[in-house]
Amino acid sequence: MLVYGFAQGNKDMRDLLGGKGANLAEMTNLGLPVPPGFTITTEACRTYLDTGQVPAELHDEVTKHLALVETARGKRLGDPGDPLLVSVRSGAKFSMPGMMDTVLNIGLTDRSVRGLAEQAGDERFAWDSYRRLLQMFGKTVQGIDGAHFDDALDALKRDRGAPHDVDLDAGALRELVTTYKQIVRAESGRDFPQDPREQLDAAIRAVFDSWNAPRAITYRRQERISADLGTAVNVVAMVFGNAGPDSGTGVAFTRDPASGARGVYGDYLANAQGEDVVAGIRNTVPLTELAHLDKKSYDELLDIMATLEGHYRDLCDIEFTIERGRLWMLQTRVGKRTAAAAFRIATQLVDEGLITEDEALSRVDGHQLAQLMFPRFDERAARQAIAHGMNASPGAAVGRAVFDTATAVEWNSTGEDVILVRRETTPDDLDGMIAARGILTSRGGRTSHAAVVARGMGKTCVCGVETLDIDVARGRFTAPGGVEVSEGDVISIDGTTGDVFLGEVPVVDSPVVRYFEGELDPGAAQAEELVRSVHRLMKVADGRRRLGVRANADLPDDAARARAMGAAGIGLCRTEHMFLGERRRYVEALVLAEDDAERTAALEALLPLQRADFEGLLAAMDGLPVTVRLLDPPLHEFLPDLTDLSVRVALAGERGVRDPQDERLLRAVRRLHEQNPMMGLRGVRLGLVVPGLYALQVRAVAEAAAARERAGGHPRVEVMIPLVGTVQELELSREEAERTIADVRERTGFTGPIPVGTMVELPRAALTAGAIARAADFFSFGTNDLTQTTWGFSRDDVEAAFFAAYLERGVFGVSPFESLDVAGVGRLVDLAVREGRAARPDLKLGVCGEHGGDPDSVHFFHEAGLDYVSCSAFRVPVARLEAGRAAVLADADAGSASR
Ligand code: PEP
Ligand code: MG
Repeated sequence: MLVYGFAQGNKDMRDLLGGKGANLAEMTNLGLPVPPGFTITTEACRTYLDTGQVPAELHDEVTKHLALVETARGKRLGDPGDPLLVSVRSGAKFSMPGMMDTVLNIGLTDRSVRGLAEQAGDERFAWDSYRRLLQMFGKTVQGIDGAHFDDALDALKRDRGAPHDVDLDAGALRELVTTYKQIVRAESGRDFPQDPREQLDAAIRAVFDSWNAPRAITYRRQERISADLGTAVNVVAMVFGNAGPDSGTGVAFTRDPASGARGVYGDYLANAQGEDVVAGIRNTVPLTELAHLDKKSYDELLDIMATLEGHYRDLCDIEFTIERGRLWMLQTRVGKRTAAAAFRIATQLVDEGLITEDEALSRVDGHQLAQLMFPRFDERAARQAIAHGMNASPGAAVGRAVFDTATAVEWNSTGEDVILVRRETTPDDLDGMIAARGILTSRGGRTSHAAVVARGMGKTCVCGVETLDIDVARGRFTAPGGVEVSEGDVISIDGTTGDVFLGEVPVVDSPVVRYFEGELDPGAAQAEELVRSVHRLMKVADGRRRLGVRANADLPDDAARARAMGAAGIGLCRTEHMFLGERRRYVEALVLAEDDAERTAALEALLPLQRADFEGLLAAMDGLPVTVRLLDPPLHEFLPDLTDLSVRVALAGERGVRDPQDERLLRAVRRLHEQNPMMGLRGVRLGLVVPGLYALQVRAVAEAAAARERAGGHPRVEVMIPLVGTVQELELSREEAERTIADVRERTGFTGPIPVGTMVELPRAALTAGAIARAADFFSFGTNDLTQTTWGFSRDDVEAAFFAAYLERGVFGVSPFESLDVAGVGRLVDLAVREGRAARPDLKLGVCGEHGGDPDSVHFFHEAGLDYVSCSAFRVPVARLEAGRAAVLADADAGSASR
């Protein structure tokens, strides 16, 4: 069966009928006033696209269903006396707004246009409908450049002194029809078809073809919509909102999609068709006005809205038309909404008894929560956007406009906040992007270089503001309306909405963050509904999740913040910052040590400092696990730069004031210099070749735990060895750690457990996880390095070098450093989990790469059976929410599979 009448489908048949068709069917079966029609399946489209031929049965099936529509309407398609007209509309499984084609008014011919005029008692309406058909059919079906039609319309308006289309009378439109027919003949080499069925069949084929229009292909690639789904085609009896003052067209939402508030939201335009609303020919009025214009239709619409909400159990958006006082539903779907509205609506629906708390949790997601946590512009501040572009990376940023990287860096170094404004960015702009509060470009979409890099940095970005005329050389841009902004002028950009403002818009902290940090009490009477909704859904998530959530934090303040955000410990304390600043000189001494005494002196100088670091951290996370990772980066990162030092030594030599210490240091830096430091002497390799380094760190950790215990605390510390590739590395470093811990125990009397585990961040570690597990108390997947080493990508370089091109060309939809590459890296994780647990059933498993806070990746880690994820403090709530959602969704899937 290739064609379904509306009464034969339902809302769950989106694969076959597309979203629009499935929902038209659902509304029909609910008894709502849907114009009669039918849907040609996506399967028919796929066959057509595969073979280039319309499937043989389609013609007869369309004939049968068309006859039913004709009977229902009491008219025949294109009948010269009283024609039935139909629309032919695309409708894929996933909404692809405006990407595919639609043809309205099929069935009008030189003869039936007169019948329509007579039946409607309106000449102008009939000729206007006919010229619209010629125009749409010409463009969509016959492939004629739309400019020909637009030019002819403009010329006619000039000639008649008519400012708007609506000022053209019936005679003028009739003349336009003649001109349009000439255009069709001249451009396509044939006359506009006068056989209505031929029009219909050609329009159906054209809509099938529009699945492969270039813009549709690009859109699908960006949205990760599969290219072989195909589109359904809906053939619907036309109803006319432009049939007089008692007609009109509108859109409605069952709640406010911006705030989630209950009420009547939408717009209405009297005596108009949907395309007039889009074209903005006249201003719409708020939907509530309809109550005064046509009370009966308004009341009926409100009833229908209530029915739809109750039925879909969610916010619905609706397109409707009123034809001479009669209401028709043209479309509905579960509507898009802002992040704040999503949380509010989900909890409202629970209160109204429409959905369960679990369902409410599945209706929001971590991306939305993350959006709500960015600082935002103060809603109370008056402001008017000067331009609007793509919301490429969320947040609110204010600063002085600068037009090149050098100025951005220079001004930023004097404490000035800047916004980097470029037509587009390239890898050369990277330093400027780092220095800027936000980035604004006039070209490129959400996968442009600026957007990708800004998101990677967590920096606010608005891109593709095409209405800005940016003159980089002169250091200024012009916005619509002649607004000029020069270098140094303050601008504000909203990466959540894509708005650009002149001057400073005050920024406020997100109330959601203030709630997470314990500053706002969700139970207080004056708490915002949004905060109450977030609190409630977080509680549901925490109650359902099986994944623990820890934080990556190195400093006591960060740890305290993470704890407030709900972290149940630290999954990764990177110790490298503990070797920076003043402490570099001890690292230098360690590297330069020529005998044990010198080396021991350097290590002993570091010991109390390290111990104090760990004590602070253990205090902030008292009672919760703290995983300390031993030093990972190559040592030369702590030493002077090779070039700088070489120059210094050379200059000193020339001046005859040689510094033997510098010269020794230079020899050491040269010795430690590596072509590929990320693959060189780092991680456990350092621990094995730099005597005493790891022992120092383990001693500091164990002594800090002992000190905390003496002070009445409950320290729970874990030691983690990085970059292990083989069990021998882990065994050797573990033996040393155990010896050191035993020594501290003996001296301090500390008896608490100190598990020793390893990171799994090399493919070889994953592939030999069974062996490694025998020497490890826990694994923590370092998915940053695991992604880098699995793909052979340098994590420091690729985002700027070529990821934008890869995203643009669809190699991947999202950076594998942002969201876990399940097919590749995920497979290694699965393998290591399985073989690690088989070797050691009590092996504790976590992840501490950036993916631990990425919503999609959290679902994967849940499925993989990890014990916890660890991520930056700010993402802890996101991970908690997603871990809860993952559990709810997995249970729902298991439930439906067992039914
Ligand atoms: C990792 O590689 O995933 C990790 C957490 O370690 P780092 O990012 O410090 O290399
Ligand atoms: Mg790593």
